[in-house]
Amino acid sequence: MTFHDEDDDMNTKSMETGELSVSHASTGSSSFARSETRRVTRSKYIVAGVIFVAAVLVGSLTFVFARNQEEDDFETQFGEYAVEIVDIINQEANSALAAANSLSVAITTFALSSSAVWPDVTVPDFELRGFHNNILSKSLQVSLAPLVRADQKQEWEIYAQQNEEWIDEGLAVAMERELTDNTEEKSDSIEDFLWRFAEGDSGTSVVQNSEGTNLGGVNYFAPIWQQSPAPHDTQIVNYDILSHPILQRLFSTMWNSVQPVFSEATDLSFIYEGAIEDDSEHPHTYVLHPVFGSFVDNNGSYKSEDIVASLITVLPFDQLLLDMIPEGVNGIDIVMENTCNQHFTYSINGPVATFVGYGDHHDPDYDYMGFAVEFGDHSISAHTEESCNYMIHVYPTSIFEEEYHSNKPVVYTVVVVSVFVFTALVFLLYDYFVLLRQRKVMEAARRTNKIVTALFPANVRDRILKDAEEQDEGDRQHKRGFGFGAKAQLKDFVQDDNVLENGNSAFDSKPIADLFPDATVMFADIVGFTAWSSVREPTQVFSLLETVYHAFDEIARSRRVFKVETVGDCYVAVAGLPEARKDHAVVMARFARDCLHRMNDLTKKLELTLGPDTGDLSMRIGLHSGPVTAGVLRGDKSRFQLFGDTVNTASKIESSGSRNRIHLSTETASLLEAAGKGHWLKKREDVIRTKVKGDMQTYWLEVKAPSIAPTGSSASDGQTEESISPTEAKRMEQEKAAKKEEKAKSKADMDEDKLRRLVDWNSDVLARLLRQIVAHRNATKRLKGTVSSSTPAKLEIKSGGTVIDEVKEIIELPEYDPLAAQYQEDPQSIDLGEAAQKQLRDYVMLVATFYRDNPFHNFEHASHVTMSVVKLLSRIIAPDVNSKNANNHDHAATLHDHTYGITSDPLTQFACVFAALIHDTDHSGVPNAQLVKEGAEVAKIYDGKSVAEQNSVDIAWDLLMHKNYTDLRHLICETDEEMRHFRELVVNSVMATDIVDKELKALRNARWEKAFAEENQVDSRENNNRKATIVIEHLIQASDIAHTMQHWHIYRKWNERLFHEMYDAWRNGRSEKDPSEFWYNGEIGFFDFYIIPLAKKLKECGVFGVSSDEYLNYAQKNRAEWEAQGHQVVEKLVEKYTAEYANHQVRLDDIQDADNVPLRSRMFRSDTLSDDEGFLAEVEKQIDDEDGDLSEKSQEDLVARASSRLTRGASKEKL
Ligand SMILES: [Zn+2]
Repeated sequence: MTFHDEDDDMNTKSMETGELSVSHASTGSSSFARSETRRVTRSKYIVAGVIFVAAVLVGSLTFVFARNQEEDDFETQFGEYAVEIVDIINQEANSALAAANSLSVAITTFALSSSAVWPDVTVPDFELRGFHNNILSKSLQVSLAPLVRADQKQEWEIYAQQNEEWIDEGLAVAMERELTDNTEEKSDSIEDFLWRFAEGDSGTSVVQNSEGTNLGGVNYFAPIWQQSPAPHDTQIVNYDILSHPILQRLFSTMWNSVQPVFSEATDLSFIYEGAIEDDSEHPHTYVLHPVFGSFVDNNGSYKSEDIVASLITVLPFDQLLLDMIPEGVNGIDIVMENTCNQHFTYSINGPVATFVGYGDHHDPDYDYMGFAVEFGDHSISAHTEESCNYMIHVYPTSIFEEEYHSNKPVVYTVVVVSVFVFTALVFLLYDYFVLLRQRKVMEAARRTNKIVTALFPANVRDRILKDAEEQDEGDRQHKRGFGFGAKAQLKDFVQDDNVLENGNSAFDSKPIADLFPDATVMFADIVGFTAWSSVREPTQVFSLLETVYHAFDEIARSRRVFKVETVGDCYVAVAGLPEARKDHAVVMARFARDCLHRMNDLTKKLELTLGPDTGDLSMRIGLHSGPVTAGVLRGDKSRFQLFGDTVNTASKIESSGSRNRIHLSTETASLLEAAGKGHWLKKREDVIRTKVKGDMQTYWLEVKAPSIAPTGSSASDGQTEESISPTEAKRMEQEKAAKKEEKAKSKADMDEDKLRRLVDWNSDVLARLLRQIVAHRNATKRLKGTVSSSTPAKLEIKSGGTVIDEVKEIIELPEYDPLAAQYQEDPQSIDLGEAAQKQLRDYVMLVATFYRDNPFHNFEHASHVTMSVVKLLSRIIAPDVNSKNANNHDHAATLHDHTYGITSDPLTQFACVFAALIHDTDHSGVPNAQLVKEGAEVAKIYDGKSVAEQNSVDIAWDLLMHKNYTDLRHLICETDEEMRHFRELVVNSVMATDIVDKELKALRNARWEKAFAEENQVDSRENNNRKATIVIEHLIQASDIAHTMQHWHIYRKWNERLFHEMYDAWRNGRSEKDPSEFWYNGEIGFFDFYIIPLAKKLKECGVFGVSSDEYLNYAQKNRAEWEAQGHQVVEKLVEKYTAEYANHQVRLDDIQDADNVPLRSRMFRSDTLSDDEGFLAEVEKQIDDEDGDLSEKSQEDLVARASSRLTRGASKEKL
């Protein structure tokens, strides 16, 4: 499985499962992430489960508890009511007995006191006495039934008839008391005989009772005598209760027990219905109470024989059960049970008792709460087998219970469960936030991992991560042991120190390192990088490195080569580790070749943005194979590093190689040979000498055309094992073709390429500034409401004078318009128009053709000056003024003041760059003084002053004024005023490059003093403009000699070219002195009296920021270097050029052709431009006459271009 496969695999997995995982992590760290995720998920489920179980448990408990509470309330309350109920019933039973007893006592007392003899006793006021009894006992009626012996029967019948007036008296009393509404008098007399009911065919009839009932051996009758309330229907009187089976049984029970006795619930309504009405359906009990003939002694007790009569009380249960519980309390069942096997049930609702029916009707659900108690005090009533003894059972019903059931348990449970649900939601929310954070952390970790992955091979990275994990664990334990206090930290620190002092390892674990016996190491260096970067802005330097290294990284990825590191401009890679592979040398060779091609492609492309010389950058690559120790050097910024002789040798192989070539050690070459790639090798002619290894035979890798797929092609991977695969063959074919093509490309073509790139770059820079001009102008116009004029700007140049006469002491820069700055659109968005853009490029190309092919003063020099101007301007525009607290508008205003208005006027900047571009146009390659001395025509025209400079301005200006560049011109200067301003700037700038003219130099110095001297620090507009003018002049001066203030290599390159130019002149007899004679001292003097003072001035005027320091530093360093090496350098230069001149014929320099030089300037100055044919011819002639290094082909090409452009323009005009 390859690394990439693993990646993809994991990505899919993580997507499928939705798990967080580090997509680029290795198996190790991702499985760690996965297991962690699993653990987290597991604990999440556990927590959720616990919360759920807790919710269910606590919810149920709450519910049960609340329910029980209610149940308890219900039971307690019921218990209280039940006790109350039975208390009341018992009280009533007892008071019924007590009332009957007291009536009985009263009757006995009366009988004794009145000396009446039983049974002939009629109790006076029986109605009233009975009434009291009835009230107290809640009985319906009380009847007195005396015992009449059989022998007293007749006597009684007579007595009764004679004493029946108690009935009328009773009725009267009742009427008085309004106890009865019956106003009738008694209807009949009482039965004058003792009687009983007899069952016959015609129903029940009343018959005489004659025999009596045996009690204690004597036959008795017990006729009903007095009743209260008194009966209306008197028939009941004299009814022998002993003739009724129930009453007889009751009576005998009373007789035997000598105690009151309760009857079963029964219907004996005939006893009372003569007096009152009552619903006989209701259960009643009849209480028989003994009446004694006398009172017993204190110690004695009554005997059956003492009984002389009985009282019969009628107790209806519904009356007894009234008013026992308060209104509102409902649903209590009372079941009465007696020993006569009877049950009947009452339902109690508030004070009302309702008869439910015979039988036990309570709800068996409440059996457990049943409350039973005996009815009445059995000590005062008969309690024998014959008597009916009552039990009272009290039960609750669901109606009663419901009163105690509320929705509270449900509410409590819901509340409790809600709390849990809320907790769970909070937990989920928290979990969500944790998840979010975790994602971020994982994202960060993923990025970190990506970086780590890039830094270390997979297996090494895993070990580092494992180590770090262990270290963390160790730290944690350590901290646990010592705490987090400052003291502990100090202690740690000291202890750590001790460890180091003792010479032990700073790390707990073993170092991560391995030996890889077979590997190929590549060192690749960018040749000329240091010099190149010294001329550029730091951002440009990084832009180059990033672009190139990124491209290499991509190739490395696809070739499965491990990139070790980059040190500055050196790129180090290795093949054969971390995974060993047999074909490491072959892989590395391919990789090196791909890098080389890619580099060459890239630098050409980058030249447009990064400026001249970028295209010249190339790689120098060295390869060596052998054993390599690889590992992680831990500590701050741990890095994966390679060690060992192989690495050192690879570096040596690289440094002793040459540009654009891949240098191989013998070892690598042998490996390639063994892999069947011998045809790739070319033996190096010379041997390299090394101190350690002595002479080494090395090889070049034959570099062919770029491989088909340098990046991202899987086809190119893994085919290294075969000797020649189809793709390989195809590639070799293509390489062959490309090689042929390359050969065909002459050096001239290369030069032309370079010229084109320079032209493109210059056009690009100017176009950028042009856009700013347009943006600025549009903003100003919008504010002022002016319309763009369609008439082209015009500028009358005073005739009679020359360019030098136009030099101004102070150039007026436009005033700062804060609004215009504020309302300016983005210059990037400005479209210059196709025509103008084409004209711009054509114009730059034309200017380029007007540069001669001098060793120094050529178009390349102009481009370098342009680059320096751009760099310094960028420094002005983005100085290190702390503007963080100011807004953009304030910032712009500050900048304007700080840079004397240069920043805020794009036209000024354009003019500076333009001036740099054209400043050496048509430079003849000899100093002005020589031209004057030679009496050249051009020197005459300009009166011997700043000859070359004036000539350059005239040529460039006239070219610009040509009708072919109308659109371009219109963009640069829309108004006459702008054109005047533009020309002033160009003239002053170009003339400033004449640094030899003493007069001009003196003037400039005076102006500097005036502007920047302490005493002249008047902040006037005029002084500001003066400062701006001087800054611009110094800017272009410094740029013109920028090479002296750049990297030593750059300085040397251009210094050599200048020497070359001067040497040419001397060899051609155009200089009196051999430059080699004064070159050393000349440079020293130049540094001391011009370059360094100029650099200091740059610093002094304070607008160039760090660039001025950089320039001054380089100037001083170069001077020191020159002082040390200058003599040798000059010697070598002379050697070199002497050899060159010895080998070649001395050139016949046509530059001194007297006719040519002035011709150009005259040509453009006079208005002969209208004659296109003439101009074309002149241009052609000029270019033909130049004898530069450009090949014929490129010259032809340029001429063709110039001519076609001109003819095109002409034909357009004609149309
Ligand atoms: Zn120059």
